[in-house]
Amino acid sequence: MAPYDLVVIGTGPGGYVCAIRAAQLGMKVAVVEKNATLGGTCLNVGCMPSKALLHASELFEEAGHSFAKMGIKVSAPEVDLPSMMTFKQQGIDGNVKGVEFLMKKNKIDVLAGKGKILGTGKVQVTGNDGAAQTVETKNIVIATGSDIARLKGIEIDEKRIVSSTGALSLEKVPSSLLVVGAGVIGLELGSVWRRLGAKVTVVEFLDRILPGMDSEIAKQFQRILEKQGFAFKLGAKVTGVDTSGATLAATIEPAAGGAAEKIEADVVLVAIGRVPYTDGLGLQEAGVVLDNRGRVQIDHHFATSVPGVYAIGDVVAGPMLAHKAEDEGVACAEILAGQAGHVNYDVIPGVVYTTPEVASVGKTEDELKQAGVAYTVGKFPFTANGRSKVNQTTDGFVKILADAKTDRVLGAHIIGREAGELIHEAAVLMEFGGSAEDLARTCHAHPTRSEAVKEAALAVGKRAIHM
Ligand SMILES: Cc1cc2nc3c(=O)[nH]c(=O)nc-3n(C[C@H](O)[C@H](O)[C@H](O)COP(=O)(O)OP(=O)(O)OC[C@H]3O[C@@H](n4cnc5c(N)ncnc54)[C@H](O)[C@@H]3O)c2cc1C
Repeated sequence: MAPYDLVVIGTGPGGYVCAIRAAQLGMKVAVVEKNATLGGTCLNVGCMPSKALLHASELFEEAGHSFAKMGIKVSAPEVDLPSMMTFKQQGIDGNVKGVEFLMKKNKIDVLAGKGKILGTGKVQVTGNDGAAQTVETKNIVIATGSDIARLKGIEIDEKRIVSSTGALSLEKVPSSLLVVGAGVIGLELGSVWRRLGAKVTVVEFLDRILPGMDSEIAKQFQRILEKQGFAFKLGAKVTGVDTSGATLAATIEPAAGGAAEKIEADVVLVAIGRVPYTDGLGLQEAGVVLDNRGRVQIDHHFATSVPGVYAIGDVVAGPMLAHKAEDEGVACAEILAGQAGHVNYDVIPGVVYTTPEVASVGKTEDELKQAGVAYTVGKFPFTANGRSKVNQTTDGFVKILADAKTDRVLGAHIIGREAGELIHEAAVLMEFGGSAEDLARTCHAHPTRSEAVKEAALAVGKRAIHM
């Protein structure tokens, strides 16, 4: 087979974006994918299907609870789960086809099968039929992503005890759902099934939800979720699930030790995180070094311990997010082309796509306190934002953290409708090293929810207008 400039193993958002950028820069590129469809976790069993179900279930809830107060009369909405799943699948298919199209457009060869690194410049691709071919290439990028993390002693059958993958395809709405883990995925999928009718209990080992996000925002988010009907058991761990009865019985123990209790549920969702996926890649034989958490170890240029072998995305350190993987893919391709590819890890937004949404970029207040950084904080609630008031969607607030001496924005945290869109004005500002005053002096269209971001920036200087 003709030698390539680059072979990328894995076609998630890291891998396919890296391949496209490399092709744009004139390289001859191939991608290797073991799954039947391109797009990786994100497109097939992650970001995209979860957002389709979040969208559909949100509208279902709105139709049942919010339409009447706006003067829209509809009869009580009913869930047609098979059709909702078809809607979800159509969204997946559309995106997967989009990636196939982009591979063709950029003249990238798609090699179907499992990739194994045989050493510098050599990748073995074994198809589903067992036939293996070896391709030669100047460079290899590992973009094999991640897999679900499992709980010892609790077997996931993807029917009653599910991972996120099974929770995206339940055949009926469970009357009760026990979610293990109060992270982003657990709260998003918990929201989907609560809106569709399940009674949702979330068990979390730590004493707070959304570990890593700003704790003030997380506290308010918990209160809002509780109002919506979520029950939380914090500082607790699930130590076993008895599957012998018609209903599952989970054993919950306080994290600090103490008496156990049982919680019954139709379905248990294990959402305790994800682990890097390197199975069958031949890394050990090839001499690619992993870190103590099983992630491929890389330097600042994404290079592994083996010359010509690079790695990006969920399989390396850093937040397991699609856009982080994409940006690493672009930077890695640019470095291979001799350019100065770079990812600014200080400005990677994180979003929880619930209602309201939670969005964050940069440092949290907890991190600034811990680092002893002198900061000023400006907050503005959506209850004081005109657009939110007329729409009667006033939950949440915007919080901006700025350096006390220079006024440079160090972090922005938003809880509220469309927070996942609003956060990007802070992200762009931070990318340019902007100050709270820069943001406050930028004219914002009225009436928009974005005005709350401007007002929070004004509040950093204690001069918010509408508060
Ligand atoms: C339910 C859920 C919701 C999520 N929602 C979001 C969200 O809203 N926003 C967000 O930013 N992130 C979200 N994520 C995380 C996001 O999906 C990942 O961060 C992202 O997919 C990582 O991209 P990647 O390219 O590193 O790897 P992946 O997307 O995991 O892709 C890796 C690919 O490599 C292939 N592969 C692995 N080994 C081999 C091999 N040896 N040979 C050939 N192919 C191989 C796999 O089949 C897969 O296609 C979500 C994840 C889940 C599970």
